[in-house]
Amino acid sequence: MKLSDYQKFIDEVWVSDGKDYNLQLAIAGLGLGGEAGESTEYIKKFLRGSHKELHADDLMDELGDVLYYIGKIGNLIGVTMDEMLDHNVNKLTARYKR
Ligand SMILES: [Mg+2]
Repeated sequence: MKLSDYQKFIDEVWVSDGKDYNLQLAIAGLGLGGEAGESTEYIKKFLRGSHKELHADDLMDELGDVLYYIGKIGNLIGVTMDEMLDHNVNKLTARYKR
């Protein structure tokens, strides 16, 4: 799936229930933090020994949730995920060319 199609899909499954822009942005931002936490929690449990193996599918599940909220925030602020990628590549390229 292309990122542009994914962002359309996100809006199809996002339940806004009439919430205003600021509340939706807050929910997406809090969701992003929560899912990033779930991702790091999985890695922590692996490193601590609670998981004998790191299962990429399980971690991908959480990282995908992170992507979902990133895509939703992008939709709310009018930025595509492709633009985010390009912006990040440009930023990192400039940083590491020093
Ligand atoms: Mg999750």
